[in-house]
Amino acid sequence: MAIVEVAKPSVVFKTDLKCPKCGSDLTFIEEGDNVWLGCDRCALYIKISKRDVRRYWNYVSRRVLWRDLLQDLYGLFKDAALG
Ligand SMILES: [Zn+2]
Repeated sequence: MAIVEVAKPSVVFKTDLKCPKCGSDLTFIEEGDNVWLGCDRCALYIKISKRDVRRYWNYVSRRVLWRDLLQDLYGLFKDAALG
């Protein structure tokens, strides 16, 4: 039997960050080699590679500093949305 693997995001969740354009909650997506933050309504997304996510890895607590990552993604998103 063939096993068909469907590519799908491994993590998707709504953040409490608001789109500066429409006010919707932004969506965080982890998929393949990238993570995305974007607005479903505006269809605007920014992404960074998981390689870049590594600098948010905290070796002491051995976990990703998601809040810092999200804040930086949000900064990039605002630049893209308003620029
Ligand atoms: Zn929006």
